[in-house]
Amino acid sequence: MKTFERLDQPTPISDYFGELTFGLAQMREKLPKEAYLNLVKSLDQGKKLTSETADAIATAIKEWAVQKGATHFCHWFQPMTGLTAEKHDAFISIQHSYHSEIRVMERFTGTQLIQGEPDASSFPSGGMRSTFEARGYTAWDPSSPLFIIEGVRGHTLCIPTVFFGYHGEALDNKTPLLRSNQALSKEACEFLKLLGDVDVKSVTATLGAEQEYFLLDRELARQRPDLVLTGRTLLGAPSSRGQQLEDHYFGSIPNRVKEFMEDLEFEAYRLGIPLKTRHNEVAPSQFELAPIFESANIAADHNTLLMETLKRVAYQHEMVCLIHEKPFAGINGSGKHCNWSICNDKGENLLEPGNTPHQNLRFLAMIAVVLKAVYRHAAVLRASIASAGNDHRLGANEAPPAIISVFLGELLEKILTNIEKGVASQATEAQIIHLGVGHIPDISKDYTDRNRTSPFAFTGNKFEFRAVGASANVSVPVAIVNAAVAEMFQQATQDLQALLAKKPGSRDEAVMELIRAYTSESKAIRFAGNNYSEAWQKEAKERGLPVLPRTPEAVSTMKNPKATEFLTKMKVLTEPEIHARYHIAVERYNKTISIELATLRDLVQGHVLPALETQLKEVLDFKDALTQPEAKSRCQGRVTELESLYGNLLATLGSLSSTLSEIESGKSEEEMMTILADVAIPLSVELRQLCDQTEMTIADKHWPLPKYRELLFSHALS
Ligand code: ADP
Ligand code: MG
Repeated sequence: MKTFERLDQPTPISDYFGELTFGLAQMREKLPKEAYLNLVKSLDQGKKLTSETADAIATAIKEWAVQKGATHFCHWFQPMTGLTAEKHDAFISIQHSYHSEIRVMERFTGTQLIQGEPDASSFPSGGMRSTFEARGYTAWDPSSPLFIIEGVRGHTLCIPTVFFGYHGEALDNKTPLLRSNQALSKEACEFLKLLGDVDVKSVTATLGAEQEYFLLDRELARQRPDLVLTGRTLLGAPSSRGQQLEDHYFGSIPNRVKEFMEDLEFEAYRLGIPLKTRHNEVAPSQFELAPIFESANIAADHNTLLMETLKRVAYQHEMVCLIHEKPFAGINGSGKHCNWSICNDKGENLLEPGNTPHQNLRFLAMIAVVLKAVYRHAAVLRASIASAGNDHRLGANEAPPAIISVFLGELLEKILTNIEKGVASQATEAQIIHLGVGHIPDISKDYTDRNRTSPFAFTGNKFEFRAVGASANVSVPVAIVNAAVAEMFQQATQDLQALLAKKPGSRDEAVMELIRAYTSESKAIRFAGNNYSEAWQKEAKERGLPVLPRTPEAVSTMKNPKATEFLTKMKVLTEPEIHARYHIAVERYNKTISIELATLRDLVQGHVLPALETQLKEVLDFKDALTQPEAKSRCQGRVTELESLYGNLLATLGSLSSTLSEIESGKSEEEMMTILADVAIPLSVELRQLCDQTEMTIADKHWPLPKYRELLFSHALS
């Protein structure tokens, strides 16, 4: 195990924060003035960089990176596999001299910085690319800082890029996010101008993604083929102690994990990722990190980088980090709460109630627009978080379910209800907590209450999209939220113009009218009760909200042109891109589930059955040796139990295997998805139950896999 070096004198974080990054601040310092100004201009006005500027920037970047120890550079991008991809090139170039001696030198050009051409044929394109157009391109995104990943012999400079095809079709998750940011800014500005913020120049989506994860001992995890191959356990009887003591959440962090976290944070800070809080989560061995929010694009890059860093640092500490949505049955799963807001170019949070009547009117208008956007696009929002992994969380009794609804909190709910009724209401009554202890000052209550069961909750100055899965690339759901809200801003601009034309001169009244209309039209999306209850499933249906419990139903929304029209209208995705993403979602679901089922089959054949056979033989031999008739007959009971388990295991395994062969025999992707979801998964649940029963029945020494108890409580004594 890596020994944790105790620093004599820990240094302040600000001393090393971002030391492995090269962003706008470093460029201002290191670039020739003109090159820097050209870069800023191109960022502000969306103009292309000239090749001279690009070369100047490349030279400054190379000097910085080489001096930091970088030997290679790579275009870092986020293909639709959900992971990140990188192809490394060395900085060296060779000069041949007259006597054919070669001279090696570090070189890096503007073109190498700006553009790359990784072979795109091995990345999913959802059928958008035919083989003769297998080319794919990466292009530098100058708004996101470059960063260095340290290696053993040399480091790699990573250049955040977008990834697209020959005709400009997006092949990644970042491009739609950037497009949605643009649409949101444009449409929000138009609306805000009409509202009276005449000098607003841009609007930015902000994002703080809270990341949940599990940390396990690596040696134990390695002995579980299911963890190695699928990132989650496919079988495992419950541990006698699970999470019922509820002592883990915010409990004291185990020593081994604390050392990991300190190292992780050190790495994250050097990479410019502003982590703020760390704590234990609800389940044993489950933890959470929350960063300070940033603009959505940078926050999304940082979250992907954080997931990679979590895995890398865990490895150094001889642990593994599981970012799967449901690594253990019966134990809480992991989510990634996406805190989302919008702010203007003055840095004002538009979802924060203000001090002036104008600011408060603006705030309520923003809320009304978001409510109606979520209401109208609930199905696509649900689709944006659909994955085989997240299906285990959604709908279970632990995470926001598969019905999108919005929780506003009592006070805001009251204000909106009063507006709908046409009654004026006192906006922000001061709410104070009196503890009744003399020397402890009264504090003001966060004026929103919380609802941990809500998938999309207002938390005072932002919305928290809680239904996102832990392993998701946040660019996907955030792009959809942005697009939905952008479209609603466009609509709101038109509607407000119409209202103003009717009643010229009384803008505030027109805005109030708009708020009233939008909140009452979208009323069905507001829900303050328990989202986990069965009653809500029924009520949601009655309200006409989409109820999409599993990935197959959720992603089929993307086949409905009416549901996805806003994405083309806002230029976030073209029709072929939407179509492609639908196919990739189906294919990923099928592949994930197929791998899980094949792994389960192998586990049963290779581990569970042989263990049971050994046990059975042992009991049979033992029974033969018994002399007392009563003991013998009781022992026969045990034989019968084991034999019946054995028979059931073989039968269910047989059914699962034949379902798997049926799928392999030339079914279409959609047919395959249906069979997997409707037949194979239920069979695997049955098979798992039999395995877990076996695990509980047979001797510890015969069970060949680390148990839940060992996996989940490996930190208990640390
Ligand atoms: P709370 O206690 O209300 O959940 P925190 O301040 O702990 O809020 O923040 C939770 C997460 O929300 C953090 O990751 C934080 O950065 C993020 N967050 C806070 N304000 C915003 C905002 N305006 N936009 C986006 N994310 C935000
Ligand atoms: Mg949490």
